[in-house]
Amino acid sequence: MATLNIQHIDKIYDNNVQAVFDFNLDVKDGELIVLVGPSGCGKSTTLRMVAGLEDISAGHLLLDGKDITQTPAKDRDMAMVFQSYALYGHMTIYENMAFSLTLRKENPNVIHKKVLAAAEILGLTSQLNKKPSQLSGGQRQRVAMGRSIVRNPKVFLFDEPLSNLDAKLRGATRREILLLHKRLQATMMYVTHDQTEALTLADRIVCMSMGHVQQVGTPLELYDDPANVFVASFIGLPPMNFFDVKVEGDRLVGKGFSVGLTPEEKARLKGYDGREITLGVRPENIVEGSDFKATVTNSENLGMNTLVYGNVASGVKATAKLKGWKSYQVGDTASFSFNRKHFFDKETTNAIRGGK
Ligand code: ADP
Repeated sequence: MATLNIQHIDKIYDNNVQAVFDFNLDVKDGELIVLVGPSGCGKSTTLRMVAGLEDISAGHLLLDGKDITQTPAKDRDMAMVFQSYALYGHMTIYENMAFSLTLRKENPNVIHKKVLAAAEILGLTSQLNKKPSQLSGGQRQRVAMGRSIVRNPKVFLFDEPLSNLDAKLRGATRREILLLHKRLQATMMYVTHDQTEALTLADRIVCMSMGHVQQVGTPLELYDDPANVFVASFIGLPPMNFFDVKVEGDRLVGKGFSVGLTPEEKARLKGYDGREITLGVRPENIVEGSDFKATVTNSENLGMNTLVYGNVASGVKATAKLKGWKSYQVGDTASFSFNRKHFFDKETTNAIRGGK
């Protein structure tokens, strides 16, 4: 059982750089929270404050309701897995996994049981007598996780654990972490700059930019209903297309195109008639249709999908992700429609959700 309450936490480093502003989050027991955002947005700083590796400049941190803001890292009952595995090269895998328990002078029988159980969960049973250098990167990362599991911590913290692995191993190890989470039912916080990892792993995502939380929600909420232009552009690949448009009655008029609004969309845009807004359309929401034309500048067949890059007008680019294998050539005129639109206020960049 482990809940975390992160209450209005700030981090100001000694050089007066404020890395985190008013971070607020209640993590439920057994929840897997993923902190995502571009490099330098404050994810690691936040995780390190939770771990106790950085002082908290302002705010409070509660573990199971108890204030641990000032508690040293070693007394927080949390385990952190880093991107560098930091295994001891001269020790066997068994010894590496047993190390923290040996330090604590646990009973050797208990240590043996815990190491074997963790090795079983992670598929490392046959590797226990090897040295780290005899293991692949993915296996070493599993040993690093094994070292955490044997400690049976209240909270697991992961700081970009997959960054050192190649793309194929990243996918496989990601699925292992998900299985591990299901099996242990443990509270976990996981930091990554990779939106795919966030979407595939998280119970809830915290999307950050420049030290500020931009949105907290399930992967579907962030994908389907992004709170602002930043989240909309960060989550989803290829990224969302953005167009400057003007609301004119029941139409949206942009450079090189004009599309109709459904009654629902018009209702959402109440109060914006005659004003400029930002229209966001995901590549998968651009479909072959008759609403506007684009000159194809590139096309990539991905098997199940075809990515079509086009110019709608001079300086107005769009990327469409069409279903199936399409044969567009550079210079072709393609004809498209939008089947889903996101609207953002031009000044605040916040989503226009109409009364919501
Ligand atoms: P992320 O994990 O999202 O890449 P970090 O939390 O590592 O971001 O960094 C957030 C900001 O804090 C960055 O501007 C970074 O330069 C700054 N920062 C990180 N560590 C320190 C430090 N020890 N001293 C001063 N500034 C730091």
